[in-house]
Amino acid sequence: RGVALGLLDDLGDGGGWVDAADVPGLLGPYGLEPVGRLANDLGTATRVASDVGYPVVVKIADRDVVHKSDRGLVRLGLDSDEGVEEAVRAFAAELGRSTVPVLVQPFVRGVEVALGVVRDPSLGPLVMVAAGGVATGILDDRTFLLPPFSRQDAARAIRSLRMWPLLDGYRGAQPVDTSELERTVVALGDLALDVPEVAELDLNPVMCTPNGTVLVDVRVRLA
Ligand code: ADP
Ligand code: MG
Repeated sequence: RGVALGLLDDLGDGGGWVDAADVPGLLGPYGLEPVGRLANDLGTATRVASDVGYPVVVKIADRDVVHKSDRGLVRLGLDSDEGVEEAVRAFAAELGRSTVPVLVQPFVRGVEVALGVVRDPSLGPLVMVAAGGVATGILDDRTFLLPPFSRQDAARAIRSLRMWPLLDGYRGAQPVDTSELERTVVALGDLALDVPEVAELDLNPVMCTPNGTVLVDVRVRLA
């Protein structure tokens, strides 16, 4: 298996949601890379934002905050240092702390897909492919794959979604890079089989663009 056992040992005690700082080590061996950089203070946040390039997205990086936007802890399309500082201050106030760690990301335009790993008591691990973002909760547009499965199976699952036309260049839009989306789905199947310690994995949304897929919201729960 790709993932370092030592890392799992370090993270493993008690399980629960994995810290944003530890997610890349867990997913990196499968070619899954969350976008953005962590910043633990205001100065770092604005420095990272200029590095990333405006407009940016600033969101809380706290494993105990599960639904960030519900609490106003995601700010999209910030275009200045002042905007970033204001966001970090507002997040800290909301959580009643003097400062909070944030994730600073590029603002990405794309079609939102949700991918995930769940564990069924009788079937074992399943990879979910679904319409992402707000649509996930509203539309019943999802399908499940039982690993191990092939790249072709992943391609079929993606094309079986009702939202497929949106990925395929609906109304003159540029089609998204489906091959990278397929690779991401296959990687989740590999990871689900390799690392049984991963109880739940949630990528929502994956931003699908003509130039590839961008993982803007990654949550991993260990058993
Ligand atoms: P949560 O799911 O915890 O509320 P997300 O990180 O998924 O937080 O952000 C909420 C929504 O904000 C996403 O569904 C997406 O529509 C939008 N969003 C998040 N990150 C980005 C980004 N980097 N670029 C563009 N839109 C984003
Ligand atoms: Mg999300």
